[in-house]
Amino acid sequence: MRTRFAPSPTGYLHIGGARTALYSWLHARKHGGRFVLRIEDTDRERSTAESVNAILEGMTWLGLEYDEGPFYQTDRFARYNEVIQQLMDKGLAYHCYCTREELDAMREEAMKRKEKPRYDARCRMRSEAREGVDPVIRFKNPADGVVVVEDLIKGKVAFQNTELDDLIIARSDGTPTYNLTVVVDDWDMGITHVIRGDDHLNNTPRQINLLKALGAELPIYAHVPMILGEDGKRLSKRHGAVSVMQYREEGYLPEALLNYLVRLGWSSGDQEIFSLDEMIELFDVGDVNGAASTFNPEKLLWLNQQYIMAAEPEKIAHHLGIHLGKLGIDPCDGPDIMGVVMAQKERAQTLVEMAQISEFIYRDFDTFDETAAKKHLRPVAQEPLEKMREALAAVDDWQPEVLHQVVKDVSEALDVKMGKVAQPLRVAVVGRAASPGIDVTLHLVGREACLRRIDKALAFIRQRAAN
Ligand code: GLU
Repeated sequence: MRTRFAPSPTGYLHIGGARTALYSWLHARKHGGRFVLRIEDTDRERSTAESVNAILEGMTWLGLEYDEGPFYQTDRFARYNEVIQQLMDKGLAYHCYCTREELDAMREEAMKRKEKPRYDARCRMRSEAREGVDPVIRFKNPADGVVVVEDLIKGKVAFQNTELDDLIIARSDGTPTYNLTVVVDDWDMGITHVIRGDDHLNNTPRQINLLKALGAELPIYAHVPMILGEDGKRLSKRHGAVSVMQYREEGYLPEALLNYLVRLGWSSGDQEIFSLDEMIELFDVGDVNGAASTFNPEKLLWLNQQYIMAAEPEKIAHHLGIHLGKLGIDPCDGPDIMGVVMAQKERAQTLVEMAQISEFIYRDFDTFDETAAKKHLRPVAQEPLEKMREALAAVDDWQPEVLHQVVKDVSEALDVKMGKVAQPLRVAVVGRAASPGIDVTLHLVGREACLRRIDKALAFIRQRAAN
């Protein structure tokens, strides 16, 4: 059992490619097979080294380790030429000297007859070269009969050979074309299961005919349907992030993205959360839905939050440190980051959000959230805040339990509910009305900063009252 992922390096690794890679990877892992990475870089104008790096980086970040490769098609031209020559020698391929004008005329004729334009194979009969024309090489596609693809996802799909014309396998500059290279590679690399996007389904009968002509064993095919945006159009940048690495930037955990992708078009009962081991055990490419699936960013967010909550805090701390760094915060200039993680891990859907809602722990803010200030920094809050400041200034052991007791004592002394003290205090220290428990919040911010911010809040209340 051998599967492969064969991206063309013409951009980043996108969500659809990552899902196809995941399905191929799972299939190999489930059956104790091997997963091959092949970079289809023969289109030299569109392929770039940056894209290759982006693909490798994306695969690594997702943890989709490959057993063989990456193999580069550009390293294999000699082999493609050898196969093309074999087909020529066996009379299974021929030079085609048709000019652009000739081909255009052929197309127009077909259109006039309301037929699908196809090459009429006239050069099969032509034996002599034509001066001034560099020929392409065409494969002699069988003239009749049916090619049946027994697809694991799509079921039986039949193609009439009369619908397929003689495929160009080498361009006039001698370079091999996509269908030829894929066939040679899948054959040479012993690929038993071709799992790929269903945008390639139409190429499959051509590839099968080529494989048969070469005497190669046919792989089993599974064509994975497309991913659509919520508007029913093919998923693209318009719908938000489509690059795998952008999800890392935006604070997603790779496990959450993999979990989201495996569920997109596949299910096992009503289970939503799958560990990698469970995916390997339960996934069956034959169970993938034959229809396109719709990308749902909210569900991905929800899953990410589940993974953040369940992850080892040490791991979250590592990621949080990186995202705080991007906000210009050195996590060493503050409390133990593990304390921040424990306080925030149930409060953020992404690691970016966790960094944002933790910013107040590391630095003073300039303005209060207006709604929170209107509600909680009113003249009635002045006395509780003054009393809190006094009490906090006297605390030696700045620990959550002690701080909790102080808030409680002040509330009792004022004969008000704890919230009447804790909410103004929270807005004073955090700048807004949401944060972890007030004791933990005070603890994380630290004594000096708390006292400084309470003073600022008191000044704010007085100033508002004066205006
Ligand atoms: N290189 C092709 C692509 O990126 C995939 C070819 C294949 O999987 O057969 O669309």
